[in-house]
Amino acid sequence: MAKKTRAGRTKAFKKISALKRAPAKKTGQSKPWTPAEVHEAFSRFRKENPDPKGELEHINPYTLLVAVALSAQATDVGVNKATRNLFPVADTPQKMVALGEERLREHIKTIGLYRNKAKNVIALSEQLIANHNGQVPRAREELEALPGVGRKTANVVLNIAFGEPTIAVDTHLFRVGNRTGLAPGKTPLEVELGLLEIVPDEFMRHAHHWLILHGRYTCVARRPLCERCIINDLCRWPEKIVYLT
Ligand code: SF4
Repeated sequence: MAKKTRAGRTKAFKKISALKRAPAKKTGQSKPWTPAEVHEAFSRFRKENPDPKGELEHINPYTLLVAVALSAQATDVGVNKATRNLFPVADTPQKMVALGEERLREHIKTIGLYRNKAKNVIALSEQLIANHNGQVPRAREELEALPGVGRKTANVVLNIAFGEPTIAVDTHLFRVGNRTGLAPGKTPLEVELGLLEIVPDEFMRHAHHWLILHGRYTCVARRPLCERCIINDLCRWPEKIVYLT
């Protein structure tokens, strides 16, 4: 399996002669990161990308909430394609309700689970009008009470729209937290709570974005690009590719 993986790597990777797979250890045995290592990792993320941004297009907290609700089991690129036509005509709960479920379905039919998502977006828009004066609430409990809004969606909205130091654990962040040993956990909530415990305050605002981007573009699921990873020396993954020089 390892041979097949290595053979499939890019030309650029093959040119790096001083790389070798680290000796395998049993998973679950990695040493916890020290506070100094955690600080070092996030310092590097910050240096590389001082002001990271989410990739879901939106124009206000409401459209962010809708975009995140639409993004479950879908790619940001796919959601952006649909919302580029939707948000110019429905950027408030009132306009969304006026648009109606059927026309909303037409706008988002390229996104997975679109029927259910359309139903939820209309229902959450109605609730925002009825209970929150048409505004997106800033409280987690109120966000999570909206149809189709779970903890992850609430965390994204609290972080991006309101600047709260929350960490939304999606599939990328879950993988990075476990694979690196930074915040291992069997559930997204365990990973989230682990990260909240160890990430220094100065990095909390952007930690969520840095880790998601790291998982999306470097520590990817099938063949992580360890050869260009800026936290390679800190990562605890037993199967990582390490520099020998
Ligand atoms: S060294 Fe490899 S496995 Fe570890 S964080 Fe970097 S890309 Fe992921």
